[in-house]
Amino acid sequence: MTDTIIETRGLTKDFRGFVAVGGIDLKVRKGSIHALIGPNGAGKSTVFNLLTRFLPASGGKIFFKGEEITRRDPALVAQSGMVRSFQISSTFPAFSLRDNVRIALQRPRQLSYHFWRSDKTLADLYGRADELLDAVGLTRWRDLRAADLSYGRKRALELATTLALDPEVMLLDEPMAGLGHEDIERIANLIRKVAIGRTVLMVEHNLKVVADLSDTITVLARGKILAEGPYAVVAANPEVRSAYMGS
Ligand code: ADP
Ligand code: MG
Repeated sequence: MTDTIIETRGLTKDFRGFVAVGGIDLKVRKGSIHALIGPNGAGKSTVFNLLTRFLPASGGKIFFKGEEITRRDPALVAQSGMVRSFQISSTFPAFSLRDNVRIALQRPRQLSYHFWRSDKTLADLYGRADELLDAVGLTRWRDLRAADLSYGRKRALELATTLALDPEVMLLDEPMAGLGHEDIERIANLIRKVAIGRTVLMVEHNLKVVADLSDTITVLARGKILAEGPYAVVAANPEVRSAYMGS
């Protein structure tokens, strides 16, 4: 139990009778890179929405760091260290990369009164923004508007804005979606880097990426866990093979 950072018991979501997540028991080990895979409509994004409390569960329980968070306010979930990356909405296209990250650095302070007392100056914030841009390899483009970045670099910027919240757990929903080969390599390396000292739970369709990055894989199909384990175990499962052949 001590090395489990996220746990669900019988987690369920139905949308007016349609069971999108049908009672799943998930355990994510602290410090691991854990992938959630499965055909379209399997319930992966819904699981993310339930964990981060963007959607209320219809049944079951969610634990984070040993505390039940099943009904916790989503802002408090984020503040307690579980943060999901958003694919598009998290960046401001007309602002420079530095400003995007600087704004993200100020964001957690709006969640709690005592953060308002922060004595960080703007210079400190830009200094930290530059460190984060460096960490994701975007220093050269830091004064560019986010809108002018290539698609792959936008994804790197999103990682930087998520990292600005210094999350213990990062939930990444399809971080490689729409990327070409080189960007995939780059983002995979970035994920490896940001996963040091953190837990990463990601939904990803690119099986090669999943195989390379993940310690544990959970396969969802029609809202249920079909298989779980390291890649070799999951890939050898006949049910997994047939679920993937159809999609
Ligand atoms: P995945 O991310 O694995 O592709 P989702 O979690 O997005 O799947 O969706 C799982 C199922 O739940 C799908 O059949 C989808 O149509 C349905 N669903 C998701 N969100 C809603 C919603 N807000 N209202 C009704 N049905 C939904
Ligand atoms: Mg999805």
